Amino acid sequence: MAYEHVWEQYVQHMRDMRGVEEAIALMHWDMRTIGVRKGSAWRAESIGILTAHHMTLATSEQLGAWIEELRTAPIAVWQRASVARMAHRYERLRAIPLEEYKAFVIACAEAETMWERGKSEGDFTLFRPYLERIVAFARAFAKQWGAGAAHPYDAWLADDDPNMTVARLDPLFGALRAELVPFMQDIAHAQQRGQSLPRVPISMQRTAQEQLLALIGFDASAGRIDESAHPFMTAINPCDVRVTTRYSEDDCTSALFSTLHEGGHALYEQRIAPMFHGTNVCTGASLAMHESQARLWENVIGRSPAFWNAHFRTLQSWMPPLRDTFIGHFVSAINSVQPSPIRTEADELTYNVHIMIRYELEKQLMSGALDVAQLPQAWNEAYARDLGIVPRDEAHGVFQDVHWAGGAFGYFPSYTLGNLIAAHIWETMCEAGLGTQLHDIPKIVHWLTEHVYTHGATMHTDAFLDRVCNDTLDTAPFMRYVKDKYEGLMHVGQTPRIQ
Ligand SMILES: [Zn+2]
Repeated sequence: MAYEHVWEQYVQHMRDMRGVEEAIALMHWDMRTIGVRKGSAWRAESIGILTAHHMTLATSEQLGAWIEELRTAPIAVWQRASVARMAHRYERLRAIPLEEYKAFVIACAEAETMWERGKSEGDFTLFRPYLERIVAFARAFAKQWGAGAAHPYDAWLADDDPNMTVARLDPLFGALRAELVPFMQDIAHAQQRGQSLPRVPISMQRTAQEQLLALIGFDASAGRIDESAHPFMTAINPCDVRVTTRYSEDDCTSALFSTLHEGGHALYEQRIAPMFHGTNVCTGASLAMHESQARLWENVIGRSPAFWNAHFRTLQSWMPPLRDTFIGHFVSAINSVQPSPIRTEADELTYNVHIMIRYELEKQLMSGALDVAQLPQAWNEAYARDLGIVPRDEAHGVFQDVHWAGGAFGYFPSYTLGNLIAAHIWETMCEAGLGTQLHDIPKIVHWLTEHVYTHGATMHTDAFLDRVCNDTLDTAPFMRYVKDKYEGLMHVGQTPRIQ
């Protein structure tokens, strides 16, 4: 059969899979935003049924035959990337019996609901048996996927990016820890504690998030913003990209930076070249690349003096209680470095320690060195040792993230990898003269679209860094970025040069 015809059938098959993925994504979105608690058991079962159907499509003999034919066909580079990505998933899913995978997905949907309940009631024992089941599945899958791997956790890291392994991440995170922790302690020690920012009514914050998303180029006619316990972004389809945020009347920056983070993810999804729509490369290059875009908007751009220099008056018009706040005070407040118990609320320096704690715990969970029953204590010990914090309860400790309930092992490292990649990209953007252009957001978005977003998942993280940044993944650009920024902020002191 001519390879063009095989390709057409392969694309149609991807579209069939995508239709099921859309239904599942929409059900997940509903469950985590407006869903009805009593209906959640039925919903979990329905998600399991649809996932089983999706798995049948993703592991069909026919798909395997098309992959084999296309592997040697004279197809374009992006088509080759699509086939390689599909083959990777095909082989992983084929390694697990359908019934077992379906049971895992149902267990995850049930655990997510129980995570929410256990967290609000502050009772880990409610959630513990659900998490134990998921960890048991995760360890079993790691055995099936990771034959020959140096560490059982490698099998989960490879789920997203086959080039990421414990052997690569241990030295990378070790180097980061060695340089970042003393720097972070110096900054935390030297910074003056400013007064807090004014309270902003939640109704006012809601409107502000919509305006903030519009400012950074989010297309509201191809997406929406809602509220959830744990902010997230989901691309239901290329023209329906949804973000969520969460509000605190006492801290208007919580929603602002969650929105910038999820907005960064959303811009990536909304600006992938239409020629990739409906295929498996219509997504971010990797979780780490996706996080790099979220952290770029949240921190590198969103917490920079230059961004607020240009946009603080606009923010004041959206949130009138900030009218009497001096911009220097606002910039200091959003860049305050202090160890805190919650990852998503952490400053951009201590944030990485939160990730390294989770990375170590996940490694131990996967190797069997740590069991779920020991997790709350291990969590508290790690926080006391690395950040000098003892969480006041489990909701502020082991319960804070939904990832493990959703079976998302190997995800956490992508946040710190995302920070490192964002710094690589930012250096490249500065070399292109964009570091001083944060008043001109369309120009920033245009560059990111051309160099990052439009390519979707047609390149691996390493290939991307090589091609766009002419560099390999390293901690140096991140350390240069934070040193430059925080040393600049320290010199600014109480009478900033920022206007
Ligand atoms: Zn994110």
